[in-house]
Amino acid sequence: METSIQYLPGVGPKRAELLQKELGIATVGDLVHLYPFRYIDRSSITRIADVQPDLAQVQVRATVTKVRLYAKNGAELPAEKLKYNAVSRLSAMVADASGEMEVVFFKGVKWMHSRLVPGSTFIFFGKPAVFGHKLNMVHPEVDAPDTATSGVLTGVYPSTERLKNAGITGRAMLKLMSAALADVLPTLQETLPDYVLKEKGLVPLSYALRQIHFPQDQRALGKASYRLKFEELFLLQLSLLKQKYIRSKSAVGINMPAVGEAFNACYNALPYQLTGAQKRVIREIRDDMRSGHQMNRLLQGDVGSGKTMVAVLSALIAVGNGFQACIMAPTEVLAQQHFANISKYLRPTGVKAALLTGTTGVKDRREIHAGLRDGSIGILIGTHALIEDTVEFRALGLAIIDEQHRFGVEQRSRLWNKGYQQVPPHVLVMTATPIPRTLAMTYYGDLDVSVIDEMPPGRKPVTTLCVGEGKRHAMHNFIRDEIAKGRQAFIVYPLIFESEKLDYKNLELGYEEIVKAFPLPNYKVAIVHGQQTAQEKAFNMDAFVAGRANILVSTTVIEVGVDVPNASVMVIESAERFGLSQLHQLRGRVGRGAERSYCILMKGTKVSKESQKRLDLLCATENGFELAEEDMKLRGPGDLEGTQQSGLPISLNIASLAKDGLILTDARAYAGHILDADPTLSSAVNAPLAAELKKDKYQSKDYSQIS
Ligand code: ADP
Ligand code: MG
Repeated sequence: METSIQYLPGVGPKRAELLQKELGIATVGDLVHLYPFRYIDRSSITRIADVQPDLAQVQVRATVTKVRLYAKNGAELPAEKLKYNAVSRLSAMVADASGEMEVVFFKGVKWMHSRLVPGSTFIFFGKPAVFGHKLNMVHPEVDAPDTATSGVLTGVYPSTERLKNAGITGRAMLKLMSAALADVLPTLQETLPDYVLKEKGLVPLSYALRQIHFPQDQRALGKASYRLKFEELFLLQLSLLKQKYIRSKSAVGINMPAVGEAFNACYNALPYQLTGAQKRVIREIRDDMRSGHQMNRLLQGDVGSGKTMVAVLSALIAVGNGFQACIMAPTEVLAQQHFANISKYLRPTGVKAALLTGTTGVKDRREIHAGLRDGSIGILIGTHALIEDTVEFRALGLAIIDEQHRFGVEQRSRLWNKGYQQVPPHVLVMTATPIPRTLAMTYYGDLDVSVIDEMPPGRKPVTTLCVGEGKRHAMHNFIRDEIAKGRQAFIVYPLIFESEKLDYKNLELGYEEIVKAFPLPNYKVAIVHGQQTAQEKAFNMDAFVAGRANILVSTTVIEVGVDVPNASVMVIESAERFGLSQLHQLRGRVGRGAERSYCILMKGTKVSKESQKRLDLLCATENGFELAEEDMKLRGPGDLEGTQQSGLPISLNIASLAKDGLILTDARAYAGHILDADPTLSSAVNAPLAAELKKDKYQSKDYSQIS
């Protein structure tokens, strides 16, 4: 496995270097773990006459009849004395016995021109489309029809133009693979213990490797790919869970055995029933807090799912056991709103809460510091200000961080140090950033994850539409109608740091325009942005929250948390410049009270295809997790042909977090089951697993860092 590939027949130092450079393959072991990303199935060739533009991807076997090259202005270029940098498009007509279609290339034209010689036959794989009434395929994959060496299914490997130019074609790759397998299979070490193979019904590694490269048939391929995916996800989860086990064993936590009176007083006075999901999550948190180990839990819940209530009740458990709790919010506005809300919930309990932010005056601050030290303040709510060194608690038992993605790891560790008698507080991290469950299991693999997957009753659907500049006037009229019904509207501008000045300019111009369209005395418009003083911000925010202003123009400071149930319209300017999850967060600000709410995505004139897809997705669904899953699929494929999920912190070779969620869930549960019996993997039967986890790729990965 460790032998350099240069010793394989037909490789040598030069090609070895190229393989290393282009695909990162240095050893025979690397090579046999480079799997086909697709198979040519010779039994599923579609006749051109049967190709329909609404089909997903098809495979045709066709002969090139004519090739033409075009310049940017559309003029056809003569084939002689050709300068390739003048070519903007290659068009080839290809035909089989049933009909003819066009294939088009905008990139890699030179290479394709040399391959697509009229008279030669290829297998073209791609998505059919119609352009000007004619059937075509843009950038199909092109394979020689005779690459198959055995069976019906032939593997297609990731490749690059450089590799192909150096003669490492699909066919050469298959030959290499065959030689490599002949080398390694006879002495191959099985990586998974026997009992794992049996219990999970997995095929042996040697069989899996042979079949993944040279499948006998679909069934064998399915078994091989399942085994390899399972192994990959299982080992990753095993390494994450093992870290978690080690930590939970060594990290002592404050024991909080009671629920306490404060909890019950608050619970019994709630104006509504908790949802099933809220109850379940509170139970999970309570179990952590009385386990004797430190809690490190991530609470995920879509915007409006009711995380605040979970935070309050958790904090009251800490208070009920004689400890204090703090709740840290990412912005001043949000901390204030939390404080106002939470104080209401605390009224029946007699527990005292305080608000500490950057703008808290010296006198108040002194009082708060004293109250924290003598324990008279039970719950402290605030911004970053509450992790300053001058803030000392009598007995901090629980730290809750709202909207985690805005806090760094370092700040988290400062909270740890505020614990009681050297014991760190329990930590609950709350986030509304919907990330796919499978990703959460991997990113936060060493945290416990709770999910609120149920909305409180009474949330109204939000109608989302995406419109262009031409509808601006209509949008204003629409807002007027809503205001006439007594509703309020948000208008949000993007703020992207590279062009901060320009962004503020846009915001100001937008504000002026709105004030003109909605003049005093009939209308009042408030504005909030990051360059205002805290007082200005609070003044404007309060005006909107209290209903004195009809419209709030702002940057994304209102993105998280802010609750104005009377607002029924959310207008997002230059919506194409926001990320999907941010758009979803913003939309979550409406639909909290009014009969019907609307989210209007105003898009600019230049919107990329990908941005348009994002906007379309948002119009199509309101489910944050569904959006996150779709977004992951959208951003799935990487640059290199056949590689997946670039941009993720973990490189997976065969499994896909987007597609293999079920295998992942199973693999994680199974890994947990094994660690329950043998937390250190020191029993003899688990020796192969312990050996695998010693490999570099499982060492020192900090998945707990969040974007
Ligand atoms: P988020 O998860 O976005 O922080 P919040 O905690 O702000 O959500 O809750 C959103 C709204 O739903 C609040 O107005 C809150 O009072 C209300 N709410 C929370 N839980 C319930 C429930 N079980 N039933 C009805 N309304 C609820
Ligand atoms: Mg919230």
